[in-house]
Formats: sequence, structure tokens, C-alpha cells
Amino acid sequence: MKTDVKALVIGGGAVGTSIAYHLAKAGWDDVMLLERDELTSGSTWHAAGLLPLFNMSFATTHIHQYSVEFYKQLEAETGLNAGFAVVGNLRMAQTKERMDEYMVYATTAETCGVPYEFLTPDEIKARWPLINTETLEGALYHQTDGYINPADVTMAMAKGARQRGVEIVRRLQADAFDWNGTHWDVTCTKMIEKGGNLVPSDEQVVITAEHVVTASGNHAQRTAKMLGIKIPAIPVEHQFIVTDVDPALQKWRKDGNPEHPVIRDADAQSYVREERGGWILGVYEKDAPAVFEYGVPDSFRADLFPLALDRIEEQYMAMIHRIPSCEESGLKDDFNGPICYTPDGNPLVGPAPGLRNMWLAEGFSFGITAAGGTGYYLAQMMVNGEAEIDMASLDPKRYGTWMTTEYAARKNEECYDHVYILHHPDEERPACRPLRTAPAYDRQKERGAQFGFVNGWERPNYYGPLDAPETFDHDARSFRRGGWWSHAVDEAKAIREGVGLIDATAFTKHVVKGPGATAFLDWFTCNKLPKVGRINLTYALTAAGTTRTEYTIVRNGENDYYLVSAGAWTAYDADFLRKCAEDKAPEFGYIEIQDVTTQWGVFAIAGPKSRDVLNAVIKDADPATALSNKRFPWLSARKIELGMCPVNAIRVAYTGELGWELHHPMEMQNYLFDLLEKAGEPYGMKLVGARAQNWLRQEKSYRAFGNELGRDATPAEADLPRFIDLSKEFQGKAEMEAIGVRSKCVTLLIDGPSDADPWGREALYDGETKIGRLTSGGYSVHFGRSIGMGYVRPDLAVVGQKLKVKMLNQLWDCEIVEDSPYDPKNATIRIDG
Ligand SMILES: Cc1cc2nc3c(=O)[nH]c(=O)nc-3n(C[C@H](O)[C@H](O)[C@H](O)COP(=O)(O)OP(=O)(O)OC[C@H]3O[C@@H](n4cnc5c(N)ncnc54)[C@H](O)[C@@H]3O)c2cc1C
Repeated sequence: MKTDVKALVIGGGAVGTSIAYHLAKAGWDDVMLLERDELTSGSTWHAAGLLPLFNMSFATTHIHQYSVEFYKQLEAETGLNAGFAVVGNLRMAQTKERMDEYMVYATTAETCGVPYEFLTPDEIKARWPLINTETLEGALYHQTDGYINPADVTMAMAKGARQRGVEIVRRLQADAFDWNGTHWDVTCTKMIEKGGNLVPSDEQVVITAEHVVTASGNHAQRTAKMLGIKIPAIPVEHQFIVTDVDPALQKWRKDGNPEHPVIRDADAQSYVREERGGWILGVYEKDAPAVFEYGVPDSFRADLFPLALDRIEEQYMAMIHRIPSCEESGLKDDFNGPICYTPDGNPLVGPAPGLRNMWLAEGFSFGITAAGGTGYYLAQMMVNGEAEIDMASLDPKRYGTWMTTEYAARKNEECYDHVYILHHPDEERPACRPLRTAPAYDRQKERGAQFGFVNGWERPNYYGPLDAPETFDHDARSFRRGGWWSHAVDEAKAIREGVGLIDATAFTKHVVKGPGATAFLDWFTCNKLPKVGRINLTYALTAAGTTRTEYTIVRNGENDYYLVSAGAWTAYDADFLRKCAEDKAPEFGYIEIQDVTTQWGVFAIAGPKSRDVLNAVIKDADPATALSNKRFPWLSARKIELGMCPVNAIRVAYTGELGWELHHPMEMQNYLFDLLEKAGEPYGMKLVGARAQNWLRQEKSYRAFGNELGRDATPAEADLPRFIDLSKEFQGKAEMEAIGVRSKCVTLLIDGPSDADPWGREALYDGETKIGRLTSGGYSVHFGRSIGMGYVRPDLAVVGQKLKVKMLNQLWDCEIVEDSPYDPKNATIRIDG
């Protein structure tokens, strides 16, 4: 057995095995995989093996899509048949709203090139007469997915990995990880059987590895403890049952008919597929408990929990309604196993927070479907530095240090329970809330705020009626324009015509200072650094030349900077900033990084009357000129006093209107809120939420992180030349230039359906040809039309270019407009007074 390797993968389930395979395939010839028990003995052996391709997430759909293609060719490579049955996937809808949901799924699928077809109840009945189509509105049929044997596909990947030189060692458990500057020393213990349990022996070995990947499945909490980090991957109980043969089904097949597709009845929280003449019924039921919150007991190996039939009775009856012929088939087998979840249902794939060369691949609830693609894209990240798709939505650092075991367990239960609810794009989930609240939360709530959840923070999405019932926001959700839409319209208009106050407290804030700060930030970001007292919008690039983070940089002193970035990504940004600063300190000198996110609250006041409101409360020797262009020009920062509150004010507005961001001490937030509210009264100031802000920024073509900005496009492709200083050297510059422009960011005005706006996940067409996709969408109050931003083929990224956008299963006219179609000359932002 080797004891010195390039990469050590911990965990021999589907995910770890695929990672080892793909690292070897990507060219690393010194890869080792450890499994504490037997390959597949975690959750992998008892999975139902379904490979559902559809997903609302662009990245996850790509991952699943890769898996399906990869599994298809594994047999040719390894000689092992993994039992891949491409039977298709039939997502049935019992309501019109569910059909709307499928239309949103379908357009996302289209952006990834996944084929699909919509079927009417009659078409379903004609193809599969055993299905009772009563109460069905229709279905979304997806021809190219199906199911596979999870253990067999893992064994095939293991064989493929061995053929490529990977060493697989069983019965060896990783027990301690020590980083010593260039590599990890991983202390491993030989595992032995004792009374049916798997226990550590006295035999230990230390394996040295340049890179470590953990894919430890249900053992993620133990892994987290060993690494000294938090991993919110905690399993939940998940069940499926297998029925005896169904004579009608047997006859159907005997008559030469093909196998049924996987039949998903989302409104009945279940899926059904054929299994040896009978059926498998898999259920996502209510009240499935989280398990192993503090680790997996030694006695739990390839084991199952007792069946909890009472929890799945309703779904069982629903299956009999949907496939009446199965009523007489008895119960043949049952599975209740641990299935790993994370609070948002996406796995955790990427660099571990705070650690070097430590990669996580944890928290997979669709691990069989995701294994192939995860291995492929993670290997790209490890070997090449970046994956070809943006993996940020899966990044382990999307959860901050505020996250606890209790939070993860309760959220994971909710996530499981929510698998088959309607996934509105404006969905907000209720569990574990409120958790992180800024002081003004109660005041905002009293004024009708309906909150969204951003990195644990409560942030107003919009302000509803004052007497709104508890269920208002839930009932306001839709795949079209929801009940909140008219409130957001009023709020957006208030900013364009009067004045509005937005809570932007969730912003991520870092102080970067010290002798090396200036040289470091100059290298770290692509725009010129601002002069003292000024601000700049700029981008940190990945080493591969794509966009890692967008920053507003305020320069408070020669070597003293305040960086503002997206609120959802505090830990993600902090980790990158710290690691880069650590690497560069020997070259540039000492660099201090402080995460001050929770110390500073932020209100953004914006609108033509915003100066009047501030003028009423500013304390200054000459209040009349304190906010004038002369004393406080656009894109500058000043320390001002509003009443008795010291404020670091920045003259920028993400809404594109005259405005200031007011960064204030968190503990003085309520004082400032009351002061501004009172001062705003004579001007009709309105409290404004994030939804209206999102629309307004699209009218100004302001790119948003996670939408237009991400690790799959460079700032040049985001079409931001005015923020890229090519006369200087910066991280990722050469790589960005080498990439060129593969597709280009544009803004579009859209003549869509009268009751819906795009969500930012729709496919764009030139005639019949797909030429791009939207990354943002919404409604423009200024133009009275739907609006969107997205990426298109560069030759088509021309103002005036007419295109089509796919919404609600139809193509609608849209047109590329100039960047910043509202106030392109920035006249209103710069207005003097
Ligand atoms: C009833 C049920 C049905 C399911 N159906 C489906 C389905 O239809 N489709 C689908 O895509 N997914 C399905 N899943 C989910 C799927 O089983 C998991 O997502 C998948 O198996 C996860 O694979 P993994 O490799 O991450 O974890 P695991 O298979 O759990 O593997 C992790 C491995 O790591 C090993 N390990 C842990 N710690 C150490 C250590 N320190 N040292 C060495 N080894 C270690 C463990 O022994 C284990 O073998 C289902 C799950 C359940 C419970």
C-alpha cells in the first residue's frame, strides 16, 4: 500500500469512487481511495438508483447531465454492466400551478440542452394505460433519464479507477488530518469486525497526501470534527417500498411493451418505478427525522432503520389511486435508510473553509445522480484550478460560521419535507427563522415587511399590507406574477419618482489594511484602486480568469480599505480574501483582514428626494452644501453625522438613482431608522425591499453576483471593460485575456405574457436556434415591460438585435437594448443639489 500520494479520497460510496476515477482520468496518476468498511456500504447500496435530470439549478442540471452520459459509456470502458435503464421520467401534475412549475423546469433544462416533451392526460393514457390519469392536468416527460443500479455503477467506477491506476484500500479509516504546509498527514486506522460491529484495531498508518477529498456520506459530522470546521450535512430517514408482482404490469410487459418511465406524482410526494414485475414506491413524507446528528454509531454499518409505514400510508394510497392494478400486490421489501441533506438541498462541493488542499464532497441527497458529474467537475477544480461551470451554488462556504448542528438538522428535515412541494422561484422556507436579525427587524415587521432569508439574515423582500395574515407571503408566491408583485411595483416607483429606504445590512464587509494592503488589492482586483475618499466598483478574478467576487472598494486611507460584497457570500468571500492575502503577504508585506459584516448596518436611501431627506437630519457646519456634488461627489465616501449617528456614507445606489449607502454602527440602527423615517415622512419616503431593488438594478444593467457574475464568465464576458484596467497586472488577467469572449452579457426588454416576468433562468433564441440564456429577470417600472439580463453569442450581442425568450412553454419577443437603458448617461445619479 502506498503511503505518499498526490490525492487521497476518503469514502468509497458512489461520490468518492467517481472523484477518484475522474482525478485519475484528468491526469493525476497517484490517487488513493480509502473506505472504512466495504465499497458502497454507506448510503449507496440501498439507493433506488433514479437519475432525475431536471433541476432548477443550472449547475446541478449540468452535473446530473454529465452523470447520465458518463454512466452510459462506463460498460464499454470497464466491461461491467451497471443496469442503466433509460426508461424516461414522467413528472405528472395534478394542478395548473404544477404545470407552471414544470414549464420553469423545462426552460432551465433547455438552457442545458436536456430534451423534454409536455403530455396531456390523454397522451399519457394512450402511452401507459395502467396509469389512472384522473385528476391530472398533464405531465412533463423527459426521455433520456431513468435509473441505474447504484452498487453496480459504483463498482464499475471503481474498476475504471483501478484501470487508471487508482489504489483502493478497504477497511481503513481516516482518523486525523494534520496540515504541514505542503501536504496532509492523514492518520488512518485499520478497521476490524467485532461482534458484527466495525471497530478500530491498534494498527495505524500515516498517509501523506498533497490533496485530500472527503466524501464521507453519513459520517460528515465526524469528518467536520476532525477538520475543525462545520459541515451542515446531516442525514434524514428516507424510505421506499417494493411491491410483489402486479399481474397487469407483467402482462403489459409480456405483450412486448416497454418498461414504464419513472412516474413522479409530485403532488402525492412520491415516485414509482417498475421492479421485477412489481413496483417501487419512494416517498418524501412529512416528519422524517434527522439522524446521526452527532455521528454514526459503530453498530450502524450497511444497515437500515425499521420501516415507518404509518408515515407513508397516504402516499401508498395515492399510488393505488394512480396505478389501480397494484392494489392487490403485497409488500415484498422495504428500505428506510439515511439520506444526507443540507439546508438548501444542494451538496457541498469545493474547497473546505480555512484549509488548504482540502476538498469536500459531502451532503448528497441525489448522490447516485450527482456522483458522475461531481467527480468530473471537482476534478477540474482540483487539477485545473476551476471547473467549466460555476460551482459557487455548491460551495461549502455558502454557510457561515453562524451555522450550528441544530440549525442544520432542522433545516435538513425541512428540505426533505419540501422535496415535492411547489418550488416557486420566489419561495422562502420557514424553518429556523428568524435567526439572524438586525436591530430594525421588529420595526420593519411592524410596517409590513415580508422577509427573505439571506445567509441566515432576515432581509425585507417587499412590504405587504399592514394587516397581512401569517400566510400572506406563502399565498403570494407564484410561477407568474405573485401577490407581492404590485407591492414591488409601488416600491420601485417610489425610488424612481420620490424616495425609498432599503435595508442592505446583510452586505458582506471586510476591512483590508496594513503596509501590504494597497499592493495586494491592486493585484487582487482588476480595476484601478480608488484614491483616498473615493470608491470603485471592481472584481476579484479566479486564477482561471473568471469572476470570483464583485467588490465596492472604499479607500479610507493610504493603506486602509473597506470592501463591500454580496450578503449571501460572507464566508465564501472571506475565505478567498484571507487565503490570497496570506499567499501574497511575503511579497507585499503585512495585510490585515477583518470581517466586520456584523458590526455595520447598512441603509440605502435612494430617489430624487433622497438628498432632501438627508439634508433634514445631517449635522454639519454648512448642512445645505454637505451633500452637494462639490462636497460629496458621486462615487465618493464621507464620514457624516445624521442626528447623533456617525455614518460612513457612500454615494452610490444600486438602484441607479440619486442615493447614498449609509453604513452605521449596528447598535445605532434603530436610532437611525427612526430618524430617517421621520425625516422621510414629508417626502413620502417608502420602505423598499429586495425584489424592487432587483428590478431597478436591471434597468441600469448592474450585474448581480451569482447571476451575471460568476466563475463561468470573465469580467470581459460580463462586458465590464470600464472596470478592467488592462494597463496593470492582476490575478487572472492573462487567463481572462486568453479566454476571449465566448458569450457576452446583455440587457433585454421583453414583451412576455401579460401575467408573468422571466425569473432569470430562461433560454434565449435567435429564430429556432438557442443562442443563450437569461441570468436575471423581472419587471421594469420605467419601461412598463418585462426586463432581463443574460448571456448570448457574442456576434448577436448587438443593440437592437431581436431575439426570443422561452417562457411558459412559448417563445416571446425580446430585444437587446443599450447597457443601462434607464438613464444611460447617469444624469439622475449625478444630479446636484
Ligand atoms: C432509501 C434511499 C433511496 C435513495 N434513492 C436515491 C436515488 O434514487 N437516486 C439518487 O441519486 N440517490 C438516492 N439516494 C441517495 C444516495 O443513496 C446518496 O446520495 C449517495 O449514496 C451518497 O453517496 P456518497 O458516496 O456521498 O455516500 P456513501 O454512500 O454514504 O459513502 C460514504 C462512504 O464513506 C465511508 N467513510 C466515511 N468516513 C470515512 C473515513 N473517515 N474513512 C474512510 N471511509 C469513510 C463510509 O463508510 C461510506 O462507505 C437514496 C438514499 C436512500 C436512503
